Amino acid sequence: MRPKYTAEAEAYREKVQAFLAEKLPPDWGGIGQLDGQDLTDFVTEWRKTLHEAGYLAPGWPVEYGGAGLSALEQVLIAEEFAKAGVPTGGPNDVFGIQMLGNTLLQWGTDEQKRQYLPRILSGADTWCQGYSEPNAGSDLSNLGLKAQLDGDQWILNGQKIWTSAGHLADHIFTLARTDPDAPRHKGISFLLVDMRQPGIEVRPIKMISGESEFNEVFYTDAVTAKGEVVGGVNNGWAVAMTLLGFERGEAAATLPIRFQAELDRLVILAKERGLADDPTIRQRLASCHTKVQIMRFNGMRVLTRFLHGHHPGPDGAISKLYWSEYHKEITELSIDILGAEAMVPNGRRPSSAFQADDAGAPNSSWSWVGTFLNARAGTIYAGSSQVQRNIIGEMVLGLPKEPK
Ligand SMILES: Cc1cc2nc3c(=O)[nH]c(=O)nc-3n(C[C@H](O)[C@H](O)[C@H](O)COP(=O)(O)OP(=O)(O)OC[C@H]3O[C@@H](n4cnc5c(N)ncnc54)[C@H](O)[C@@H]3O)c2cc1C
Repeated sequence: MRPKYTAEAEAYREKVQAFLAEKLPPDWGGIGQLDGQDLTDFVTEWRKTLHEAGYLAPGWPVEYGGAGLSALEQVLIAEEFAKAGVPTGGPNDVFGIQMLGNTLLQWGTDEQKRQYLPRILSGADTWCQGYSEPNAGSDLSNLGLKAQLDGDQWILNGQKIWTSAGHLADHIFTLARTDPDAPRHKGISFLLVDMRQPGIEVRPIKMISGESEFNEVFYTDAVTAKGEVVGGVNNGWAVAMTLLGFERGEAAATLPIRFQAELDRLVILAKERGLADDPTIRQRLASCHTKVQIMRFNGMRVLTRFLHGHHPGPDGAISKLYWSEYHKEITELSIDILGAEAMVPNGRRPSSAFQADDAGAPNSSWSWVGTFLNARAGTIYAGSSQVQRNIIGEMVLGLPKEPK
């Protein structure tokens, strides 16, 4: 099998390549070559460039600041950006664009779309995700954050936890219980809340890497306007599941490109450390190679369905389960290749807590150790591996439900 794109698609790919060649410096080697303030400055400027070109949310309608591009064109942009080692947006865009923006396009009122989508793209609003609570993670429908209507305002009381970027965001999309007497899934609403108010307190949590990227968020008589409900009062579960589909499924076609670059870098590390002829290391590298190829083909399958208008749903669990389990395997191998040095890492740390380190990153021990530590979280956030297996079994394959 030799899957390929149509001639029209390849012509569009050339346009994207020309855009990248025009906007990136001639000696560009991937964003992983930048660190500290240089990295921050580049990402800020790059995001502006993408916004001006309509590439920040290429699939969104033009009236909301997108470029109205087809699904295929969006995929070609994402592929070429991944190959060039440049991000498709800023650090908050995973919450603002990928999760909330896409969900608002499906469920939001015209007023909500007009109010929020352009502000997400301009960077005026930054968002975080308030789903999990101390007693509601995998069992999300057990959530207890209370929202009560008082005149034209919701009053919120309760707690969220593991809120990534909560300390950086000024808005939170949150799931709250709006009808305590209804069956669990039916009494939940999806609310948009401004965090800049006395009723919201954010407390950072320290991670295994020593950094603090997620938080506890406490609501004490916090307020939001009556109209800040997405998808209707007590209909939040359906909205929440739409958003999870975007959170889990979107990157299936581009992640294999990043994972291939990461694996190539690990092979170089094995050679540098004199371990490329070690039969066990070779076997483990071969296992990683096989899995990257499987992800590549699964990505094409997801892509084909996407091009036929299928939005990611429960089947997004297949990619999420596979890449996150794979990523533990390859990063454990990197630690074994580094040996004792993994205990006292040095060099540039990964800039992002998610998935592979950036393209062009130096083969430093901190790059691998940081990625190894972050990979532990990959099989937990956006739904644990056990939960993904349940979803695949029950909702994709139609197997009997697990006993309650
Ligand atoms: C780095 C990171 C970032 C995160 N960011 C956010 C965020 O921004 N916003 C947000 O709302 N949440 C966030 N989360 C929270 C994440 O969604 C939850 O951690 C996740 O849903 C698991 O819930 P839990 O931690 O309560 O574990 P639990 O649900 O208590 O699970 C504990 C263990 O039991 C297993 N288990 C649970 N139920 C079943 C079952 N039915 N069958 C088999 N096994 C089961 C789980 O797989 C797990 O191994 C983040 C988590 C991490 C690690």
